[in-house]
Amino acid sequence: MKDFTFKIPQTIEFGIDSLQKLPQLLKANGSDHVFLISDKGLDGLGVVQKIKEIIEADDITCTTYLGTVPNPTVDIVNESTKLYKESGATSIVALGGGSSMDVAKATGVLAKFGGQITDYEGLHKVPGPIVPIIAIPTTAGSGSEVTASAVITDEARNYKMSVISYEMLPKYAILDPKMIMTVPASVAAACGIDALIHAMEAYVSLNASPFTDAMAEKAMGLIGSNLRQFVANRQDEEAACAMMAGSTFAGLAFAWARLGNVHAMSHPVSAYFHVAHGVANAILLPTVVEFNALADRGRYEKIYNYISTSKELVTDFTPDMLVEELKQLNADLGIPASLSEAGVTADKIQEMAEDAMKSPNVAVNPRATNIKDIIALYEKAL
Ligand SMILES: [Zn+2]
Repeated sequence: MKDFTFKIPQTIEFGIDSLQKLPQLLKANGSDHVFLISDKGLDGLGVVQKIKEIIEADDITCTTYLGTVPNPTVDIVNESTKLYKESGATSIVALGGGSSMDVAKATGVLAKFGGQITDYEGLHKVPGPIVPIIAIPTTAGSGSEVTASAVITDEARNYKMSVISYEMLPKYAILDPKMIMTVPASVAAACGIDALIHAMEAYVSLNASPFTDAMAEKAMGLIGSNLRQFVANRQDEEAACAMMAGSTFAGLAFAWARLGNVHAMSHPVSAYFHVAHGVANAILLPTVVEFNALADRGRYEKIYNYISTSKELVTDFTPDMLVEELKQLNADLGIPASLSEAGVTADKIQEMAEDAMKSPNVAVNPRATNIKDIIALYEKAL
């Protein structure tokens, strides 16, 4: 067994109506003024107002920023940071999916240490603790409430860059399954399969440890047996609880084990063609799983048993069974079967492959991968 580091520095509050604990967490943190980062979609649904009321009922001032969009940009981070500094707030509440949490983490870095978020690109460039963040996920999910990374799009380069630093871990995560029980089916599908992929990539990562394995296995168990039901009916409380917890377990797994080629390749797809993150990952997944099969040391069979709709444990497993199962899962969830179906064209493959190779996730993918492999994988998934 190789050496590893594993730590869960966050406080995780889980449960129906756990949102009500928000003021007490803010007070424990000494915050009398919070900066709430969210998006216009959640504002339109009344969710932002609801959170604001919970905060303000306890005499805590709340300034809101609703400029977050999917695949948030450097400009959005700059705008959010400027408003944070002007507000006089001392902590951040991140309300939303991965994008709001990415903006919150990046804002927390710039508010504390200044400069541009591009200065912190890559591994461990953030020099110390950032502004404290309380993360409230509204999807299941990015797992971003427990991860050390922020993905920000640098439009100048058409590039989704990753800032990865343990200083960015949110201090608190409030997991209230009620928050995900009103999402549209398409969002539940895209975010849910993304969470499953987080667990799968962490599980086969070269950086996996027994602790991340435990988290990944729990995540695959919860998500594998509830994803279809949750997409079918988001009001299914048991499925919603399983998805919310599963997504966070997956986040804990990949925060320490990292990811693999699926995420390395999906970021350029989103940057060039604006395909939703979870959808891009799901389309690429069967192709990458097939490629990585050569490096498998028995983990594929375990993954298969977590996600298979068949209740019987297989005794004659072959990797192509997992590939077929994942294709069927995508079809059941309404995910396009190919990149071209999602609007991706072949003319950007070279650029996308060059960008994918810059991802730190390629280095921990179980099968050694070079740019020719990435090009071939894009061509196959197209
Ligand atoms: Zn993801």
